[in-house]
Amino acid sequence: MKIIMLGAPGAGKGTQAKQIAEKYGIPHISTGDIFRANIKNNTELGRKAKEFMDQGLLVPDELTCDLVMDRIAEDDCKNGFVLDGFPRTIPQAEALDAALAKTGQKMDFAIDVDVADENIVNRMGGRRACLNCGATYHIVSIPTKQEGICDKCGNPVVLRDDDKPETVQRRLTVYHEQTQPLIAYYKKQGILKSVDGSQPMEKVFSNIVASLA
Ligand code: ADP
Ligand code: ADP
Ligand code: ZN
Repeated sequence: MKIIMLGAPGAGKGTQAKQIAEKYGIPHISTGDIFRANIKNNTELGRKAKEFMDQGLLVPDELTCDLVMDRIAEDDCKNGFVLDGFPRTIPQAEALDAALAKTGQKMDFAIDVDVADENIVNRMGGRRACLNCGATYHIVSIPTKQEGICDKCGNPVVLRDDDKPETVQRRLTVYHEQTQPLIAYYKKQGILKSVDGSQPMEKVFSNIVASLA
């Protein structure tokens, strides 16, 4: 099963994608996580991507597309994958379709996790991320067992630089301008599923599973 997660920054794409990956036994591919790992390791890609990410802007398609195409060509993607945070622009979606078409494949589902902007600001302000293992929490709705410490690996959890209020607004504007048009793109392909992302995490997940059946 080949799945795309759509939705505003902070809508809960990552939270749901991890559960989907586990349930269906497919890899979770997050472009944001790949960029953050490159930043942490101070690679050339990381240094380039950081300039855009810190400003709340998208990393250019030239730096993003090849990286995803290489990743989905790996062996563990044979039975499918869940893309989280890619595509984020129409050219990225077209590049993905073109790459898959070369081997006679296509995406199966695009799941739009729908959350109103008012709600997003709160989600991102309360998000805490583990820079070591990538686990994500929320100070109110999904807290760590011990304050400030990742449940999974024991490292500190932090507010991401780009989750600070001044950057969140910019990211939302970028989402509406560049990413939201993908909803119509996948609707036209007949593979769009929309779920109400404002519900509790477990409810959102059961709605997604039901929509894939
Ligand atoms: P969120 O989970 O809040 O949606 P991500 O972790 O997916 O954020 O992405 C963080 C940042 O990484 C984005 O704001 C953007 O700068 C960059 N990024 C991630 N994926 C892409 C992509 N497909 N195209 C361009 N930039 C991307
Ligand atoms: P995205 O990957 O779309 O940027 P995340 O999965 O990182 O979003 O979720 C954003 C924030 O909202 C995180 O702090 C996460 O713990 C929290 N969150 C995710 N899903 C829900 C939910 N259904 N209800 C409340 N908070 C949620
Ligand atoms: Zn951790």
